[in-house]
Amino acid sequence: MTEQTIFTILLAIITFDFALERVLNFLNRKSAKKPIPKELEGIYDKEKYAKSQAYQAEVSQFSMFSATFSFVLLVLAIYNGWFGMLDQWIRTFSPYNLTSPLFFFGILFIVSDVINTPFSIYRNFVIEAKYGFNKMTVKTFILDKIKGYILTIIIGGLLLGVLIYLVNAIGSDFWYYFWAIMAAFVLFANLFYTSLILPLFNKLTPMDEGELKSSIQSYCDKVNFPLKNIFIMDGSKRSSKGNAFFSGLGKKKKVVLFDTLVEKHSVQELTAVFAHEVGHYKKKHILFTTIFSIGMMGFMLFLFSRMAYSAEVSWAMGGQTSALHLNLLAFGILYSPISTLLGIIGNVISRKNEYEADAYAKETYDGTPLITGLKRMSADHLSNLTPHPAFVFVHYSHPPLKERVKALER
Ligand SMILES: [Zn+2]
Repeated sequence: MTEQTIFTILLAIITFDFALERVLNFLNRKSAKKPIPKELEGIYDKEKYAKSQAYQAEVSQFSMFSATFSFVLLVLAIYNGWFGMLDQWIRTFSPYNLTSPLFFFGILFIVSDVINTPFSIYRNFVIEAKYGFNKMTVKTFILDKIKGYILTIIIGGLLLGVLIYLVNAIGSDFWYYFWAIMAAFVLFANLFYTSLILPLFNKLTPMDEGELKSSIQSYCDKVNFPLKNIFIMDGSKRSSKGNAFFSGLGKKKKVVLFDTLVEKHSVQELTAVFAHEVGHYKKKHILFTTIFSIGMMGFMLFLFSRMAYSAEVSWAMGGQTSALHLNLLAFGILYSPISTLLGIIGNVISRKNEYEADAYAKETYDGTPLITGLKRMSADHLSNLTPHPAFVFVHYSHPPLKERVKALER
């Protein structure tokens, strides 16, 4: 393929991605203006429903603005060969393909963070604050940034360093060595996320004695799940939105309930949410998702190995000679239609898993408090009760509330 063709394909993919997102967002915005579905009547009063619609509209407008900004910037960068210029400049002080990819991605990371920070400040301290969701202090925001930087430098730098070494030392067969390393990394990250990474950002504490603990204890005894793996997390440090999740594999499994969830829900509702999370474990959803993503990673690395050394791809990015980092960045764009497609498949599977976990909670505990709990959570989050089906199909990892309630009432 010639440099010109690759250049055209890059711009076409970026434009198509952007246009698709705009269409989906447009449909979703129109759909959010509908009245409350009759299945969900009573979860909002008139005034609060209007507030939720205003919140949805504001979030969607803001994401439209920031997406347009990034789109224009990326098109300008490709069109004017800015990435190639950056590569040329790095070559003046860094040896070719050894440390240059590290400098290249390091600089891009800093530039994109500088560009994105005002957007995330506005999102948290203006929009989320206006609707009473933001609980983050400026200090937490800055500390999060610093910790994020350190983690990115250590983990990103290490993985990129290994990739550079393998690409230089092995040739185009590098991909299966790197795949093995990435698979080990994903398993490790899955196992130790709640014990190593999460505590850097949040405090996890075992449940206090009381009504909630004894309710969850008796449920645990019934389904044979170890109680010592349940933690309460200080989600209130950042947002008033409550949540719960399951993490880890085997002995490292953990259920985490946000303090903001515990605060606002009844013991029965919390036990039902807990039963839902246990359902994810019992139905082996985490294990399956992990295996699926490792498989897809192999496929992606194989495709990348076919173009990692191509000079034409580097030229299309504005480079003068073949450079691993230019090709890696171009690959990220060329691969995005496939990753959108895989994302859709992943979401279809994830929504199916959510129904399964709901059904498990209904079977082993009770469906009614799960319904009231989910409704309360949706109302507290001012979430969109009438998302557009096309938007749901592409982006939702959880089924819309209406469908979940319908399935639970069946
Ligand atoms: Zn779930």
